[in-house]
Amino acid sequence: MKPFPRAEISGHALQSNLARLRELAPKSKVMAVVKANGYGHGLLNVAKCLTTADGFGLARLEEALELRAGGVKTKLLLLEGFFRQNDLNTLVEHDIDTVVHHEFQIEMLESAKLSQPVTVWMKVDSGMHRLGFSLEQFAATYARLQACPNVAKPINLMTHFACADEPDNPATAEQTARFNRLTANLPGERTLANSAGALYWQETQADWIRPGIALYGVSPVAGDLGRNHGLMPAMQLMSQLIAVRPHKAGDPVGYGSYWYAKQDTQLGVVAIGYGDGYPRNAPEGTPVWINGRLVPVVGRVSMDMLTVDLGVDATDAVGDDVILWGQELPVEEVAEHIGTIAYELVTKLTPRVAVCFESA
Ligand SMILES: *Cc1c(COP(=O)(O)O)cnc(C)c1O
Repeated sequence: MKPFPRAEISGHALQSNLARLRELAPKSKVMAVVKANGYGHGLLNVAKCLTTADGFGLARLEEALELRAGGVKTKLLLLEGFFRQNDLNTLVEHDIDTVVHHEFQIEMLESAKLSQPVTVWMKVDSGMHRLGFSLEQFAATYARLQACPNVAKPINLMTHFACADEPDNPATAEQTARFNRLTANLPGERTLANSAGALYWQETQADWIRPGIALYGVSPVAGDLGRNHGLMPAMQLMSQLIAVRPHKAGDPVGYGSYWYAKQDTQLGVVAIGYGDGYPRNAPEGTPVWINGRLVPVVGRVSMDMLTVDLGVDATDAVGDDVILWGQELPVEEVAEHIGTIAYELVTKLTPRVAVCFESA
């Protein structure tokens, strides 16, 4: 018997999404972003499924080391770079590229004793103002990296977008223009685009795109769906009905008793809750898929369970499958009901959810 709740991960969808992104950005290499446990899909399984990616983007050194320990030989890039002096030796030992976004990292590079230089991606703050060297700092910082023997040449260049998920926002074109002006005529590879850049802003694709969410079949843009771009959802979150109960008009259900049935109905109890990562703040009406139709969440989501209104004529039974999101119910739509983004839903599943990887 299959465990539940479980997240079924489709290797076929992952590979198909990578192929689709290559079609959409035919001149770019693909740095598949697999940070945060492959966006909740399982770091090593995702990486081993996407063997044809040109590189993998990660947020933490520990994530990169997990891939190397698992036998992954592909190029790896730390998107926020290293944090400690000692990390530099680890980067050299395991052949891991690093972003350099801050002066403290340059000081560490300058004082390190390394057996080989490190491949760096210099991060430019073109307008997001979170990480990176400002336009004013750029020339002096570049010269300093250029002079550092521990930095492999040529220096690669990157930036990150604040608003690429807003197709009408001029900020992305402005950031792109600033980055291009600053880096014109410099050697080294360039990367600007996250998923939204790759999907919506073709002129940002450059040498490398860095898609995360799109690889998992999800659109980064509010009101849009991955499937509109030929992407397939890679995750299906499933559980089961553990009770079907007749419920009388006027009766409440669950903690706080804040939802009352307006008419006689049947309620289904689904074995999933905030202890699994299904958000407690999912409001009444958040859709759940059961036996070919969508039914609404009613009452408060609790730690291990949630309740749905199956309707008075329902024929659903204990043990029936429930899909919280997946092919039949896009995670983008669930996120919109809950007032969050699909990124948060897929990355926040807890270890109680069995992640079941289905190879392509
Ligand atoms: C997470 C991340 C990405 C991927 O972003 P998506 O919106 O998931 O495509 C790309 N670049 C950097 C620097 C990131 O931190």
